[in-house]
Amino acid sequence: MGKQFNIIIVGGGIAGLATAIALRAPNRKITVLEQSSLNREIGAIISLQPNASKIVEQTWDLAKTLKEKGSMADEGFQVYNLDGELQMRIPLSTTEKYGAERMLYHRIDLHDALKKRATSADWPGESAEIRVSSRVTRCDCEEGVVYTQTGEKFQADLIIGADGIKSVIRDSVLDTKVRALRTGHSAYRMTLPVDKLLADCKTFCDVVDPRAPYTTMVMAHSRRMIMGPARNGSVYSIVAMVPDEDMNEDSTNTSWTTHGDIPKMKETFADFPEWARGPLSCVADGEVGLWQLRDIDPLPTWTRGRVVLVGDAAHAMLPTQGQGASQAIEDAEAVGAFYADLDIDKDGLEKIKEINQKIFACRYKRATTIQQYSRQAAKPATEEGSVKIKMSPSEFMDYNCNYGGALEWTKRQEEEMAAKEAEDKVVEDISKMKIVEKEVPAQEVVA
Ligand SMILES: Cc1cc2nc3c(=O)[nH]c(=O)nc-3n(C[C@H](O)[C@H](O)[C@H](O)COP(=O)(O)OP(=O)(O)OC[C@H]3O[C@@H](n4cnc5c(N)ncnc54)[C@H](O)[C@@H]3O)c2cc1C
Repeated sequence: MGKQFNIIIVGGGIAGLATAIALRAPNRKITVLEQSSLNREIGAIISLQPNASKIVEQTWDLAKTLKEKGSMADEGFQVYNLDGELQMRIPLSTTEKYGAERMLYHRIDLHDALKKRATSADWPGESAEIRVSSRVTRCDCEEGVVYTQTGEKFQADLIIGADGIKSVIRDSVLDTKVRALRTGHSAYRMTLPVDKLLADCKTFCDVVDPRAPYTTMVMAHSRRMIMGPARNGSVYSIVAMVPDEDMNEDSTNTSWTTHGDIPKMKETFADFPEWARGPLSCVADGEVGLWQLRDIDPLPTWTRGRVVLVGDAAHAMLPTQGQGASQAIEDAEAVGAFYADLDIDKDGLEKIKEINQKIFACRYKRATTIQQYSRQAAKPATEEGSVKIKMSPSEFMDYNCNYGGALEWTKRQEEEMAAKEAEDKVVEDISKMKIVEKEVPAQEVVA
């Protein structure tokens, strides 16, 4: 057996765990360095779009595990206006069109399934090791070294920066501090037992069946509620977006989340239909969180030396299309695909740099486009003072969901580029063509 391919992943969120899964192979040592104790994933639902659920459930074979935890295929969007009238019902049976369904999971279940898939010896390839309470403070990208807060030093052939929107690895890659941007939006988040809703929120349950696999939205000009079930319809999750609460970062720069003030939240949604406000009265104090939503501008690069960024560290985006984690999963699959054939006995730093550039080239345009679509989807849903909804939650679905993995995408991009070059060449050739004017014989000239 030859040399071992040594990989460090900084961050054990969805991006880091997914990349550990994608990189699993014989004779590889994969270490995930995670700053927390890794038991704090929030109790909300997360939807994975078909482009990502296909990778998680089919490529990584987690459909059964997630089904056992109560995963649900979303059957559609139903969109209501401020008057409580149904404006759109968009059925979502996406397997035929995109090869997979839009899936609803409890975040804890998805995180646990990814963690087990990355670390369990039951799956092929070397299992990854997770070292918790390991906060990385800086990174030497060329040497492939990361340093932790406790003074430990880890060296690797490849370093994955999966440390989220406040990434320190990104600062080392770009040699500058990138600050996450306020987007003007905050979101209250809460999860309720469906039994409680059925017992205490009859007006709501008369309009929306909280057990049914549907995503329900109520949209006003600058506020919206996005709701749906998880765990076989036993829990119901609500995200209520509001104009920015203007929360100030604390001096240690650790949190943009805070305790949601229930009376204030109810006041903010006071003009929403009575049935839609029902669940807001059902939550108990301490069960509502308030997130300030931030994203980042597209970065000039995601890679330097032995390091490549994935997930929110590379392209944090607004949650308005449910694509943040979905793009992280696409990144992970791309890292796995491009590193599949690396031979660490033969291939050195130059090859690693070349592969990291290929990952960036494959992922950048797509993730950046989806990042921009997510900003677009956050724009006011109606004209000021009107209840008519002018946006559709399925607007960008074809671009977002029509995805068959990194290698297929690269091929598609190359074909598109070749077609464009051929077209440009035809235009250039035509413009170069001399217009040969036919000389008219003298006798034909009519005086
Ligand atoms: C309200 C809301 C709803 C959303 N809904 C959806 C949805 O339905 N579908 C979807 O696809 N996306 C959704 N998203 C986006 C999604 O949650 C994120 O895009 C995704 O979690 C990013 O994963 P990540 O692993 O890149 O980053 P994170 O989840 O932030 O994970 C980063 C990890 O790195 C660790 N870490 C950070 N710094 C260090 C360090 N220096 N050293 C070591 N470890 C470190 C952190 O502790 C953390 O575990 C939503 C986001 C929000 C705010």
